[in-house]
Formats: sequence, C-alpha cells, structure tokens
Amino acid sequence: MRKSIAIDMDQVLANFYKKLCQTVNENFNTNYTNEEFLAGSRRDLPEEQTKRLYELMNEPDFFRDLEVLDADAIEVVRKLQEHFDIYIATAAMEVPGSFKAKYNWLMQYFPFLNKQNIVFCGTKSVIHTDYLIDDSPYQLEAFKGTGILYSMPYNEATEGFIRMNNWKEIEIYFQEQLVK
Ligand SMILES: [Mg+2]
Repeated sequence: MRKSIAIDMDQVLANFYKKLCQTVNENFNTNYTNEEFLAGSRRDLPEEQTKRLYELMNEPDFFRDLEVLDADAIEVVRKLQEHFDIYIATAAMEVPGSFKAKYNWLMQYFPFLNKQNIVFCGTKSVIHTDYLIDDSPYQLEAFKGTGILYSMPYNEATEGFIRMNNWKEIEIYFQEQLVK
C-alpha cells in the first residue's frame, strides 16, 4: 500500500526567514544577516515591531516571492510522488492573508502536486499521513506518524526525530523506506 508524506512549506520548501529578515531590515532600520536572523537570538523584536511584522506578512503578496529553500526540493518531491501520496500541510492560520500567495507559489514551483492534497491548517495533529517533514518540533510533537525534522539553527537542540539537512538526504531516506 502506498504510504503518505505531508510536507511543511516555510523553512522546508520555501525560504521564509530570508524574506522575513529582509523585511525586518527594511522596516526597522536593522542590518541582520540571514545567519544571525536564523539563529533566533536576534529576532526578539519589540512588541510594536512584531505587530507591524504580522501586518506586513498578512499583505497579499508577502509569501508570493519567497525563494525555494533548496533547489533539489522540486525534483525530489516530483520523484517521491511516483511512490508516495504527497500532501502539503502549512499552518497558515495566524497569517490568513497569505493563503492565496502560498497557493500560487506552490502552483508555480510544484505544479505537479495534486491540488486536493494541499492543506491549510492550524495544528498538524489533524494530519494523519505516515510521515511529516517539518522544521517545527512543536508541530512534529503533535503529529502521530513518523516525524522528520528539517534541520534549522533554531531546532538544533531538539532530539527524538529523524533529522534531515537537505532534500537530497530526504530523497535517500525515502528510497530506503521503499525497499524495506
Ligand atoms: Mg515550517
């Protein structure tokens, strides 16, 4: 029987933090590098700025021009789809203005996805696929299947999940699952 894989968007398929860092620098007169910003300690913004940032993220086009995080992702997802049912699961409820841009972004880079398999959700505990690939330990903890943690500087300390550093590693991992 075909197994199913749910894939997160931000920091798994899309480079959200690069855009966020750029937006913070442009709006709040800072000059964080992407590395500093990703490390997390320097993005504890004052409350007013956090509020403003959410407004900016909620603008209709904010999520439309994100870069693909790892160029290999496109080809690997396409190949995985031959053997697994692929779902996209993005927790976008705190930024409802992003829905359309996120959908159009997926259609641009991953046009081969089944549109019926795109899920905008809150908690991913409702996602009952066999696997979930996510950078958020919080989402993986709520998930009942096999959690795969996409490595980011801010989740380095998390243990207990299979850890992947890039999409080539993900491809190899799932090739191994197929022959088991
Ligand atoms: Mg994410």
